[in-house]
Amino acid sequence: MKNPLLLSIEYLKGVGPQRAEILRSEFGIFRFRDLLYHFPFRYVDRTKFYRISEVTSTATEIQIKGKITSLREVGEGRKKRLVGNFIDDTGEVELVWFRTTKWQVEKFRSLIQKPITIYGKPNLFNNKLSFTHPEIEEESSEKSSNGLLPVYSNTEKALKRGINTRVWQKMQAEVWIQVGNYIKENLSEELCRKYGLTSRKAAFKNIHFPDSTEALEAARKRLKFEEFFFLHLSLQAQKAHGKRSFKSFAFTQIGNYFNDFYKNHLGFELTNAQKRAVKEIRADLGKEVQMNRLLQGDVGSGKTIVAFLSILIAADNGFQSLLMAPTEILAQQHYNGLKEEADKIGLNIALLTGSTPKSARKIIHEQLESGELDMLVGTHALIEDKVQFKNLGLAIIDEQHRFGVAQRAKLWRKGKRPPHILVMTATPIPRTLAMTIYGDLDATVIDELPAGRKPIKTVHRKDKDRLVVFKFIKDEIQKGRQAYIVYPLIEESDKMDYKDLMDGYESITRAFPLPEYAVSIVHGQMKPTDKEYEMQRFVKGETQIMVATTVIEVGVNVPNASIMVIESSEKFGLSQLHQLRGRVGRGAEQSYCILMTADKLNEVAFKRVSTMCETNDGFRIAEVDLELRGPGNVMGTQQSGLLDFKIADLKADKPIFLAAKNAAEWLIETDPSLSHPSNQHIRAFFDAFHKKQLSWALIS
Ligand code: ADP
Ligand code: MG
Repeated sequence: MKNPLLLSIEYLKGVGPQRAEILRSEFGIFRFRDLLYHFPFRYVDRTKFYRISEVTSTATEIQIKGKITSLREVGEGRKKRLVGNFIDDTGEVELVWFRTTKWQVEKFRSLIQKPITIYGKPNLFNNKLSFTHPEIEEESSEKSSNGLLPVYSNTEKALKRGINTRVWQKMQAEVWIQVGNYIKENLSEELCRKYGLTSRKAAFKNIHFPDSTEALEAARKRLKFEEFFFLHLSLQAQKAHGKRSFKSFAFTQIGNYFNDFYKNHLGFELTNAQKRAVKEIRADLGKEVQMNRLLQGDVGSGKTIVAFLSILIAADNGFQSLLMAPTEILAQQHYNGLKEEADKIGLNIALLTGSTPKSARKIIHEQLESGELDMLVGTHALIEDKVQFKNLGLAIIDEQHRFGVAQRAKLWRKGKRPPHILVMTATPIPRTLAMTIYGDLDATVIDELPAGRKPIKTVHRKDKDRLVVFKFIKDEIQKGRQAYIVYPLIEESDKMDYKDLMDGYESITRAFPLPEYAVSIVHGQMKPTDKEYEMQRFVKGETQIMVATTVIEVGVNVPNASIMVIESSEKFGLSQLHQLRGRVGRGAEQSYCILMTADKLNEVAFKRVSTMCETNDGFRIAEVDLELRGPGNVMGTQQSGLLDFKIADLKADKPIFLAAKNAAEWLIETDPSLSHPSNQHIRAFFDAFHKKQLSWALIS
């Protein structure tokens, strides 16, 4: 017999082709099984009845016992509606129905003066409480339901087709009758015992129709655990896969390059966090097992020098390194910085990007193959097949999320053995997220800024304060500083935003006129050469103000720029605001970030702006970002598709997350191929579920 879990949803009693179409298009429910995974988002306590005098318009769905005293038709045409008066001993509310059928009107009339229960969400209109399309139950037919009834997320379209809360409940009840006995366990008895988990079947039953609050809690815990568990299991599998299959070269010695540079040329004392990072990387590089390490650190935390010291370790062992950046500008900047250091100790370095001329490219190719070049900095151009190394030992990737796993894999084939991999990111990611996104990487966090940095002062100013802000900028320019003024440009092609930018530029040039002031402008629609020219003017100090779109986000490094004004800052996301702010505070002077907003802000925008004013800590900001937007939207997670949890919540369910991680690690350690009979359920589920994502066969 066919597994009913896989039956098409239109075969469910009470669904049919039309509703099936809605369920598919609005909710992605194609089969019986999908319906089962459409979990309630809350429950109503059907044992509680309200009295009209207690009702406010802000209440969610509630139920009231009372009676309809009269019914009348009101309005004309599309506004025509049926209005009823409903009373209990404490007051009166209106019931409203649009587009009623004759049959419905008759039905409601027959209920006048009879004891009924209405159920719905109250609205306040013209100082009068009303219920639109309430559900109605006759007192006599009232079943003694035992409390908690599920409420499912719904859409306008579905409601129009009559799929209301009651219908959802009926569909769920029906599907349960059909498939309840086919729900298979997917954890081992041992795990269920160890982590106090209810059975899978009981969990699905109680998530939809809780026997009690305790049973509901147990169901939620079980389903969350399950979601996290299989995620962790697949990450563990990936990690084990990487660990076992790839061998790099072991860099066993620390030699002259490293020691000479460290003793004689390092211009400052490393922070403790940097020392720890170097130590971890050094330990990894000393082994044959390929390093896959994430180096996370806020803007300005000093990741570059850590990367450079790693490069020196490779060089000491006779190996070449490469550093790959997401943009030309960034590659150029890395090159400039690293060349200065490399020259001190006679290390050969080159830059390769899309705009490297053919002739220069040819020389670089030759020198890489002969081993004359010790390290190469560049963009995507680095991973072209033509670029071959004599003995590549270490690859450093700046900002991985712009590359993707496939390109990383391409790198692995550049040497006789795959190089060790170090991924640097300045996007602080909350720990739980980092574990899931970069689950296959070990992580090092630089959580300390070099001493003596003056924290950037951040303030919130509104449009009406503009003159004061301009005055402030003038005073700072007077002292010899420079300022960025950034406009939001969400889409580079968005004409609206472009106009905002040009209007802004004009008003800035009016407020800061020649010859006293000079203003640069840079935006995405300019030719690269023009962009470069304008940037250079600002870098050289020929202009005091740089008006720009977010193209400067990963761009220039100008230590003399000490003011960052972000226009319409309410339109930016938190991580973007943080990145932009990181453009200042690079010199010795006190730096400022001024967040301009409209006079009125919504709650979320206000929270973002005030968080920026309160803290410079990127990790703290990332946590708030996660809170405000949910994990699916935090940078770098969109592409992963890993975080579409049905019920689990990375933030709220951290203890379950950690327990599930623990369980997955333990399992992989004790039974790496999941071949033990007691783990057969896990293996079966894992195989089916992750067939697309990764191949279990590779690790077993
Ligand atoms: P990021 O982590 O943003 O890449 P960088 O590596 O560019 O940061 O470092 C920012 C600046 O701080 C650089 O000018 C670098 O030379 C300097 N720096 C790095 N480490 C230290 C340190 N331990 N003490 C003082 N300055 C440091
Ligand atoms: Mg950097």
